[in-house]
Amino acid sequence: MADFDVVVAGAGLVGATAALVLADLGLRVLVVEPSVPERNPGPSGFEARTLALNPASRALLEPHASWADFAPHPFHAIRVWEDTGTRSISFKAEEVGRTELGWIVEAARASVALWRDLDSADGISVLVGEKIGRLEVRADDLSLHVGADSISARLLIGADGAQSGIRTLLGVATQTLETPHAALAAVVGTQYDSAGVAYQRFLEDGPVALLPLPGGDAGGYSSVVWSQPRDEARRRLGLTDAEFALELEQATEGVLGAIGSVDRRVVFDLDQRVAETFHPNQRVLLLGDAARVLHPLAGQGVNIGLEDVADMLGVATRHCAATDFDPGAPGIWRGYARRRRAKALLLVRLMDGFRLGYSLDDPMLRLLRNVAVQALDHSGFVKAGLIREALGIGLSA
Ligand SMILES: Cc1cc2nc3c(=O)[nH]c(=O)nc-3n(C[C@H](O)[C@H](O)[C@H](O)COP(=O)(O)OP(=O)(O)OC[C@H]3O[C@@H](n4cnc5c(N)ncnc54)[C@H](O)[C@@H]3O)c2cc1C
Repeated sequence: MADFDVVVAGAGLVGATAALVLADLGLRVLVVEPSVPERNPGPSGFEARTLALNPASRALLEPHASWADFAPHPFHAIRVWEDTGTRSISFKAEEVGRTELGWIVEAARASVALWRDLDSADGISVLVGEKIGRLEVRADDLSLHVGADSISARLLIGADGAQSGIRTLLGVATQTLETPHAALAAVVGTQYDSAGVAYQRFLEDGPVALLPLPGGDAGGYSSVVWSQPRDEARRRLGLTDAEFALELEQATEGVLGAIGSVDRRVVFDLDQRVAETFHPNQRVLLLGDAARVLHPLAGQGVNIGLEDVADMLGVATRHCAATDFDPGAPGIWRGYARRRRAKALLLVRLMDGFRLGYSLDDPMLRLLRNVAVQALDHSGFVKAGLIREALGIGLSA
């Protein structure tokens, strides 16, 4: 008998959630993670990097994880507009009969909460400070080399992020759509509280988003995700707080009044990428950013990774009633891998189309964009469908 049913490489949001849901099915799970997550908040008390989680992600997480420890902050509307346009569009929760569109969470706070959940869960062992160095696939299981030890398992889940070591070990190529963008993330204090509204403005060289965080005694806080050419992101990293605040205020047309404070700024290069297969071997699956990396302009990366987990859970639940269920048995994951990769390819192209469409300063294209935005804003059915898709709740929910 193998030492574990499933080994999960990587305890980011996707890997940790995968481990928790599989353990709740009664499988014996080992998580291998090189580093323990830690919070490192700035003077505002918030982490530099936040994530917008949609209702489908919450529905997956809540039964298995300590959702309240994520300190989720709800938002109920998104307003999108562009620098050269005259139209803006708002997506509101009430348009699809909901009170929230999603929740902003600090990425590190969520990871720390999940780490505690892993530690206290039945059926989960954690190996920290380690990576999988080598793996051999055998007929009935896998042999994984971790440090000096050799561990056997029936299924390996590579949830080890954009630079996935598992992908590299198995020689899985990726299709990369290089973008000239980097994202600059920071938390800023604003004159007015955002009152649960997220703002995104499409500038010619990339979108800038202000995501709502809980306000202070006076004014509010927002999490900035500013996608822009890499040299611009690096230049803005070097500005003084006052210079940066002024540029951000101009870029967002002072929608939340003056920017009063600026926390630590961090920059991420943004290439989109899709692995050539999400199921490189009968006993290996790739999940989350290890399988695909999306441009953050639609804030969907981790939501799509958690959608992998939900789909995987559906497949595992259908099969696990069988006696001596082997999660790496032939054929189980073929449909799953096909579905998830097809969606990834679609999303990567969609994100690139958005980015390119907004970067071209052609007067005809601008006119078309304005007409399209106006039409969309008035088309209740299509707009509601788009919102539902982004919430991960499907067209008929
Ligand atoms: C600026 C920015 C803003 C974003 N905003 C949003 C948003 O609003 N909403 C959203 O849904 N998504 C957003 N995303 C995307 C989101 O951050 C990612 O999609 C998500 O974090 C991926 O989660 P993951 O668990 O797959 O990978 P990761 O979070 O990268 O976790 C991978 C884990 O694997 C570990 N690891 C690394 N190498 C190994 C190894 N060899 N063996 C074992 N473990 C290893 C790492 O230590 C880490 O813990 C944003 C991304 C960026 C850059």
